[in-house]
Formats: sequence, structure tokens, C-alpha cells
Amino acid sequence: MDQTPHVAFLPSPGMGHLIPLIELAKQLVHHHHFSATILIPSAAPPTKAQKTVLQTLPKTIHQIFLPPVQLPNDINNTESQIFLTMTLSLPSLKSTLSSLTATTHLAALVVDPFGLEAFDVAKEFGLSPYLFFSSTAMVLLFCLNLPKLDETVTGEYRDLPEPIQLPGCVPVHGKDLLDPVQDRSHDSYKGLLRNIKQFGSAEGIILNSFVDLEEGALKALQDEGLGKPPVYPVGPLIQAGSIEGLERSECLQWLDGQPSDSVVFVSFGSGGTLSQDQLNELALGLELSGQRFLWVVRSPNDKSANAAFFNAQSQNDPLSFLPKGFMERTQGRGLVVPSWAPQIEVLSHRATGGFLTHCGWNSTLESIVHGVPLIAWPLYAEQKMNAVMLTEGLKVSLRPKSDESGLVGREEIAEIVKSLIEGEDGKKVRQRMDRLKDAAAKVLSEDGSSAKSLSDLAFKWKNHGNI
Ligand code: UDP
Repeated sequence: MDQTPHVAFLPSPGMGHLIPLIELAKQLVHHHHFSATILIPSAAPPTKAQKTVLQTLPKTIHQIFLPPVQLPNDINNTESQIFLTMTLSLPSLKSTLSSLTATTHLAALVVDPFGLEAFDVAKEFGLSPYLFFSSTAMVLLFCLNLPKLDETVTGEYRDLPEPIQLPGCVPVHGKDLLDPVQDRSHDSYKGLLRNIKQFGSAEGIILNSFVDLEEGALKALQDEGLGKPPVYPVGPLIQAGSIEGLERSECLQWLDGQPSDSVVFVSFGSGGTLSQDQLNELALGLELSGQRFLWVVRSPNDKSANAAFFNAQSQNDPLSFLPKGFMERTQGRGLVVPSWAPQIEVLSHRATGGFLTHCGWNSTLESIVHGVPLIAWPLYAEQKMNAVMLTEGLKVSLRPKSDESGLVGREEIAEIVKSLIEGEDGKKVRQRMDRLKDAAAKVLSEDGSSAKSLSDLAFKWKNHGNI
């Protein structure tokens, strides 16, 4: 049997879950001489985005696609689809772990919050179960406090007159909490509560965050009273290098021709979609701003904000949904890219001066690492909480206001984009973002706090079975 210490990773479907786990695996391989296997559950054949990301894996990281599961037709809630995909994949996980443990020195199974049922399987094989929490320390803290809130708060959180104050965190209004807690009678809320209770079965919780970003929340997480395993902040873990798609050369070449810090990059993550009305307002707002922009456009969806979650590529030509004449009127000043862009290269390009983002945690960290200030435009999941932290806590983003119907109007968009690139507010958020960028580089350097957390984990896993 190969004696190299080995760790298996089980990401749930969705690029935002796969990418940081791959990066964690790479860190272990490059800095601590591990080998690793990424076990990929799905309900469909691999997407183009998945394939391009997986192509970047070094030889010491293996990938195994678990057989795609068959989901019942009547499940259309994204979260339920993810949970069910993970549950139905348990038998194939079992047989895969059985052969992995026979051939490698497998120490631990790392799963994200959708895959906690796999903890029992890990234990069957004598592996240490770890949770990779792919969001903020603040969201983790909220989750760990939720059982108590559930007992003490009556009515909906969104109707509370005062914001919720978590220790060490910026106050957050009930309406900005994560989606599953917006309706306490819904199955997703009950499922979340059940899920959180399982966090305690992990031997450790790995967090993609770092001390300078969330000092207060990380301190609060050390509180023994929460009855949770040790927390390891190892972030910021972001995609290293390129996962180029076909559009790479076109949009990067276009950026090459733009002045420094002048372009607003507009993108809503791997799955975010806007309604047709909102798509129109955004287009007309960008046009009205007079600023340069690079916009990853997806076909609109009036029913769901994460319609493209399982496959970032739009089914129809997204550019055909833009307002008439928009492309011609903004030609030269703006570039639209259908569905997917090489985000890391865009954010690291000197011409990129701002990022209008859905506040997905990976996108946020990528922007921090490259010192790009933000416009916060949250859509789903825990993104509104992230927006509050970024805008009111860290003050590295501006946040547009929406009208009573939830629509952000073209004038508001134009003003905020102008303000980020040219205004005084923009200057201030840029300076703060620069400081965070420096801090992010430090925590990952040899003596940095995140590098140390990872070394602690690596030590534990190397000694798995001996201590
Ligand atoms: N991404 C990309 N190109 C795109 C859209 C997304 O490379 O056009 C990557 C992005 O860099 C990030 C991930 O996909 O690493 C999206 O993760 P995030 O947590 O920001 O959002 P999610 O997609 O999970 O909502």
C-alpha cells in the first residue's frame, strides 16, 4: 500500500463547492506532501465548467466521478436537489471508499455542509470526518446559534424589529439572513436545523476565511459553549492559475486595451440569474454610467435567481435578451461575454477597477486577494449576509438600493458604478480593499495564521491512527 498520507474530498454539486475543495487538496499536496482524491457526486454528466477546473489537477490529486444519481422529477428546489444528490450517492461513496482504503493511506474524509450524512460512512471506514464550511465565519456562527434562536424567537426572523447581533459580527437584519431561515415553516428550515446539529460529529471544521477578515467572529467561534469541534481558518483558498474557457483570449485581450482600474467586472457567480426586467435595468444602468464594463451575461429567468446553478451555460443565446441596440451603443466601452468568463484572470488584470458581484464567497475572496473593490448585489443562499458584512462591516463594497418590488433601477446602478470607479466613496473602499489584500497575502505566507492552521490539520492527518 502507498504510504503517502491521503485525504478524500466530497464536494456537493455546484462550482462554488468544488473549487475551494480542490484548492484545499492542492495546498495539502504542495505544502505537506499528501495525495488526495476528489469524489464527485452528481445528478448529470460533468459540465464544461467542471471539466475545465478538473483539468488543472496535479497528478497526485485523483478524481472519481461517482455514478450520476436519478432525481425524482418533482423536486425543483435547488437545495433539495443538492441534498438528495448527496444522499443517493452514499452507496457509491461506500464502495469507492472501500477500494480507496485498501490501496491508500487514507486518513480523513472532508465534506461540505450538504454532505454530512457521509460522516457515518467515514466512521465505518475508520476515517476522520471533517466539515469544510464553504462560507464565512459569521454564517458558521449564525448556524451554531440557530438552535438557540429557534427556541427563543417567536415568529419569523425577517419580522424582528431589531437586527440580530452575533458576537463579534456586524448586526444583521432578519431579512438579510440566509434563504432557508426566511420561512420557518418550510422544510428547508427544518432541514437546516437538523443539519447543523450534525456539525458536532465532525472532528474539525475547516473554514475558508482568515483572521484579519473576520477577527470578531473567529474569536467568538472559539467559545466552548457552542459545543462544536475545533475550527481551522485556512483561507483565502482561491483558484490558482487559469481555468480558461473559449472566451479567454477575447475578454483578456479587450482588457489589455483599457486603462488601469477603469473596468467594472459584472458577474453573478456560476449560477446566478436575473429576471428579464432586472437584466434590462442593469444593461441600461451600465450604459448610463458612462463607465467601462465587462459583463458575463446569462439568459434571464423570472422564477429563480439561481436557475443556472447546475449548469452555468445558458440554454439560449443570452445576448438575445439584452435591450435593443445596447451592444451597438456601448461598443468599445463595454464587452458582454455569454455565460462564463475566466474570472481569476479578469480580477487579476490591472484594468479591472471594480467587481459588481452576487457576493458568493469564492468570488468575494477572489476579489479580496486581488484587491478589487466591490458592488454588492446578493441574489440567493447566504449572499445577503455576505453583502452586509462587506458593506457595513468591512466597508469594502457599495450596495445599491432596490425599490419596493425588489428591482434595482438604472439610475441607481449608473450612480453606484460611477461612484465606485470615479467617486470619493470608491476611493475609500479601494483603499480598505488594498489593506485586506495585503493581509490575505500575509496569512498564507510561511508564518501566517492560515498556513499554520493548515499545518495543524496536516499534522493531525499524518498521525491518523497513531494518536
Ligand atoms: N466563476 C468563473 N467564471 C464565471 C463565473 C464563476 O470562473 O463566469 C468561478 C468564480 O471564479 C468562483 C466560482 O466560479 O470561483 C463561483 O463561486 P461563488 O462562491 O462566487 O458563487 P456560486 O457560483 O457558488 O454562487
